[in-house]
Amino acid sequence: LITTGNVGETRNHIAAARASGRSIGFVPTMGALHDGHRGLIGTARAECGFVAVSIFVNPLQFAPGEDYGRYPRALAADVELCRDSGADLIFAPSAAEMYPEEQLTFVEVTKIGDNLCGRFRSGHFRGVATVVLKLFNVVQPDRAYFGEKDLQQLAVIRRMVRDMALPLSVVPVPTIREPDGLAMSSRNRYLSAAERRAAPVVYRALSRACEVARGGERDTKRIQAAGLVVLEREPLAKVQYFEVVDADMQPASQLTEPAYAAAAVFLGSTRLIDNIEL
Ligand code: AMP
Repeated sequence: LITTGNVGETRNHIAAARASGRSIGFVPTMGALHDGHRGLIGTARAECGFVAVSIFVNPLQFAPGEDYGRYPRALAADVELCRDSGADLIFAPSAAEMYPEEQLTFVEVTKIGDNLCGRFRSGHFRGVATVVLKLFNVVQPDRAYFGEKDLQQLAVIRRMVRDMALPLSVVPVPTIREPDGLAMSSRNRYLSAAERRAAPVVYRALSRACEVARGGERDTKRIQAAGLVVLEREPLAKVQYFEVVDADMQPASQLTEPAYAAAAVFLGSTRLIDNIEL
């Protein structure tokens, strides 16, 4: 397992792998890796000859007042998880390596990035799309792996790849959950014991919305209301949004194909997101 923080070195290793006939799989992460990331790396391992994982907490995608400074960093444990999952290379750059001068160029995916988290996290998806394009240009993957857990991020990246004719495939990977339904997330480690006990309410609410939709309800307001009832019964949960959206992350009054329920919920100061296909 090669670990480097250097763009040039990463390019050299990737070029050597490609020259030896191996396809390049890429898993971008912010580290503090868990079994959700393990699922992405495992899928890449099964499909590609060479697997690169990036670990970079990207300052561009955090707004002032968000958790950039206290986001969990655990490089030693991350290296072990990557080794264990069969990764070939870890690219873990410093902020100075990624942004040696002030970044003046940005990628913005309008519409898809504007609703849901985009409404509450100003500049977030611009920061995500910009860093992911930059990472794609370092790693030049054939296939890049993204979790369905971050539904809107996946939609933004897929659209960027199509709109910009990037020569790679985006591969979605299903959400890995704790036994009680809570979607795995690096931010789960912020939760107090009481908040952790309450946190599965998010998935219960999404599952309830799904049940109502499967039962034949087409009115998205009613589906949304059924999910919100579940969340409102949990005093520790403060809903930021709970919405039913189409493939472009837009609200529609009648159920579309596909459609998703997506939620952002605070437990104390920890903001959790999750979604379900209806
Ligand atoms: P992050 O490190 O949180 O930025 O996530 C890196 C990648 O892992 C993203 O593509 C996420 O969607 C994906 N991911 C995070 N948590 C999960 C999970 N519980 N199941 C599947 N993928 C996940």
